[in-house]
Amino acid sequence: MRWTEFFIPTTKETPADAAVPSHQLMVRAGMIRQVVAGAYSYLPLGYRTLRKIEAIVREEMNRAGAIELHMPAMHPIEWWEQTGRVEAMGEVLIRLGGGGRDDWRGRTVLGPTHEEVVTEIARTFINSYKQLPINLYQIQTKFRGEARPKSGVLRTREFLMKDAYSFHACKEGPGGLDETYQKMYDAYCAIFGRCGLPYVPVEAESGPIGGDASHEFMVPTEAGEDYLVQSEDGKYAANVERAAVHPLDDAQDGRMQPLQEVHTPAVSTIADVSKFLGCAARQMIKTIIYEADGAPLVALVRGDHEVNEGKLARVAGVSKVVAATPEVIRKVTGADVGFAGPVGLTARIIADQAVTVMHDAVTGANRTDFHVTGVNPGRDFVIAERGDIRRAVEGDRSPHGSPLHFRKCIEVGHVFKLGTKYSKAMEATFLDQNGKSHPMIMGCYGIGLNRIMAAAIEASHDEKGICWPMSIAPFEVVICALDVREASVTNTAQRLHDELCAAGVEVILDDRDARPGFKFADAELVGFPVRITVGKKGLAEGSVEIVERCGGEVRKVPVERALSEVREQVACLRARCAVKT
Ligand code: ATP
Ligand code: MG
Repeated sequence: MRWTEFFIPTTKETPADAAVPSHQLMVRAGMIRQVVAGAYSYLPLGYRTLRKIEAIVREEMNRAGAIELHMPAMHPIEWWEQTGRVEAMGEVLIRLGGGGRDDWRGRTVLGPTHEEVVTEIARTFINSYKQLPINLYQIQTKFRGEARPKSGVLRTREFLMKDAYSFHACKEGPGGLDETYQKMYDAYCAIFGRCGLPYVPVEAESGPIGGDASHEFMVPTEAGEDYLVQSEDGKYAANVERAAVHPLDDAQDGRMQPLQEVHTPAVSTIADVSKFLGCAARQMIKTIIYEADGAPLVALVRGDHEVNEGKLARVAGVSKVVAATPEVIRKVTGADVGFAGPVGLTARIIADQAVTVMHDAVTGANRTDFHVTGVNPGRDFVIAERGDIRRAVEGDRSPHGSPLHFRKCIEVGHVFKLGTKYSKAMEATFLDQNGKSHPMIMGCYGIGLNRIMAAAIEASHDEKGICWPMSIAPFEVVICALDVREASVTNTAQRLHDELCAAGVEVILDDRDARPGFKFADAELVGFPVRITVGKKGLAEGSVEIVERCGGEVRKVPVERALSEVREQVACLRARCAVKT
């Protein structure tokens, strides 16, 4: 391919709203163009990379036994009503709009994901255990009414997702959900590995199913909106919502102060009370009233900690906890909001493990405008239920005791054991060997293709531009022909180009009549992994130059050896993106 016959509108302008490197570099390299907030055109160079990612994803999904199909972006809202997700999705679910019951527009949504549509297919065509398991996938456009599309193609309102959905008659054993889940997990490792991403699989919040029911694949980078928590010994990784922590050591020295009520007029927040009483936030017990399954549930955490509602729900054995209303709080504590405490409280209480080792703590007195000091768990209130119910913080240790570190990251993929949530709601059932009907057991597995592209840039760029992993570079090699008015230069460049193409290498020949510095800058901005420079001066000595984009030295190579040298280098860079099986 000749540069002058292709379309690479590079630019020096960085869009004012482009805050992250991938956004800036994709625009500057002429790969994308914003159409409206949250939707982009992929220009030819960008589209080449996207298609390469798509090919890798498709290959690995097929290899893992998933079957490709294609579902539409338009869905009947009825199916979303059946699963209760019109409400759950809120603004994310984009409706076509339109008035009146009979107006089809008003009854149609643009799919942010496809559980409903695929479950309807399973419900219609699968009725026997003999047809299970099956794993269906597509690579398709998703629409989400994201509140703030930002960071270029990392978060958009229209994006390409590979989504797979598996259906099973059982959870464990041959053909069960666990087996396919593991296959998908392994396929994801292969996909991200092949795309050259420094990915980390982490345990993710899995909701009511619990256990190892969900993993996210994270790429650590400053541009990310998520956090992953990793132990120093490398044995533990989870997302911040999920991260489990080691219990804190008992700091008790045996002496205890007496319990004492103190007047704290209109002082109710942790910050205000600690200031008013001159104690540290960590010396306070935060008492938060929730409601779960229609009953009050009281969570106790240290004043400087936050309740993790997902963990709390799991420890409590309920599907969800919601913050109690002021009326309920008043009823449970007998006081205004802000004065709750465990002493004398009769509701169900779950204490975080860090609270169990506190002593001489400060907490609400269950009396408006009063707190109590000298509170000692065990002596002043009974801890009937305890567990890990708080968010991990810097300084915590993993369940195995290794220090935890927080890193910003981008979620590029997610595997999830759904269980029977959708099959029950949509009555997707099958008959077992005995002719008994059961809801199918499901898993779902998503990957954001555009996000892979941006994450690869975030993970690999420098001040000059992108450093593509070989596997997803728009072209593998660029040949910069420096003096295009010299026949010797154009002939040599063209011959090298043709020979490399014949050898199966993807080459672009920069045949523009421009200054060397300008061409090099573009080549580095776009980030072709290997550059060959063919110039008059070099040719006079019978040599060309070869340089790797990622930090390689410029090497002078005799013209006759150039082809074999480049082929070798390309093979080596390709191998770096190959997964070891
Ligand atoms: P996030 O937490 O970032 O909003 P999500 O958990 O809602 O993502 P999933 O529903 O798990 O995302 O979707 C599967 C994959 O689709 C994600 O791992 C991500 O790679 C991609 N993805 C999700 N939302 C977007 C978006 N708005 N723009 C681009 N890619 C997205
Ligand atoms: Mg997710």
